[in-house]
Amino acid sequence: MKRILIINTGGTIGMVKTKEGYKPDGKSFSNLLKSMDVLNAEGMPFWDLVELEKLLDSSNMTVAEWNKIGKLIADAYDNYDGFVVLHGTDTMAYTASALSFMLEHISKPVILTGSQIPLCEIRSDGRDNIITSLLIAASDIVHEVCIYFGGKLFRGNRAIKYSSEGLIAFVSPNYPVLAEAGISISYNRAYLREKDTEGFCYVPFENVPIGVIKVFPGIQFELFESIMTERLKGIVIETFGTGNIPGYDGALLPIIEKAFANGTIVTVCSQCPQGSVMLGEYETSMALKNAGAVSGLDITTEAAVAKLYYLFSKGYSTDKIKYLMGKNLCGEMKDDNDAADPEKLI
Ligand code: ASP
Repeated sequence: MKRILIINTGGTIGMVKTKEGYKPDGKSFSNLLKSMDVLNAEGMPFWDLVELEKLLDSSNMTVAEWNKIGKLIADAYDNYDGFVVLHGTDTMAYTASALSFMLEHISKPVILTGSQIPLCEIRSDGRDNIITSLLIAASDIVHEVCIYFGGKLFRGNRAIKYSSEGLIAFVSPNYPVLAEAGISISYNRAYLREKDTEGFCYVPFENVPIGVIKVFPGIQFELFESIMTERLKGIVIETFGTGNIPGYDGALLPIIEKAFANGTIVTVCSQCPQGSVMLGEYETSMALKNAGAVSGLDITTEAAVAKLYYLFSKGYSTDKIKYLMGKNLCGEMKDDNDAADPEKLI
């Protein structure tokens, strides 16, 4: 019988309604899980449950909690066939992205799930989300970090939270759905990652100072000058369309140039969930290209943020981080950015 470790981090799935709004309640949730006969029915894998000491609304997740979840998985790696991480939906795509980098060469399934309605409420979507995640984690078919939600399995570092109310709360606009749970669970095997045969390794993240800027019509770039100090290691710019930013007679350029002088890695993502950045396609993205910004191609902002934490935590040189930000490392982006020879980078 397969053995799965369920790691409860918090989120709506285990929350109860209070006067101050929905809050995690670990005790009632673990009792509820243990009382669900279906989770121990024939056909279900054996499971154990561990919880973070402090269960969180996922809006409160930090790098410290990502590290705790990663360490729990790393410490239990040899004793279980797969992992189900119960997590709030708000930042689930960030945590899934972080784990996909942090758990280097993972060859076991890590399935993040949660719900939009608490498990203790009548119409909860948590019941199917937990049951199906356990079955997927025990299936021997998936060997990567995924999100299962609302009947669909997504690559974790390709998913984004799309709906704050719908029960199909996630999408992965730049990568096919990995499985759909209908009458049976049908896997899209061509798009699943192959089993990684290199040794598994857990890479804790450092709390590196990074930032995200979303451009908008009328943006006053000078306001951002104060955050573009040498302390800022990396920045993700969410641009229009294929990587375009307002020109305003080159107002952004001195700021970007300052960032480069400071060694800050500038990564360009798009505000469009679907499609890819193409730096230099329009005049309005040429300045970013000429200033040496990295095209994030079709990466999500969530994955770009996690990737910056990961690469800085590896202690790589600025040139190597810049190179790797534009390269597909674990399925987070498409494969076609060309750049310098990685062997020459330390
Ligand atoms: N605020 C909640 C959380 O992210 C929302 C949810 O779980 O659906 O923890």
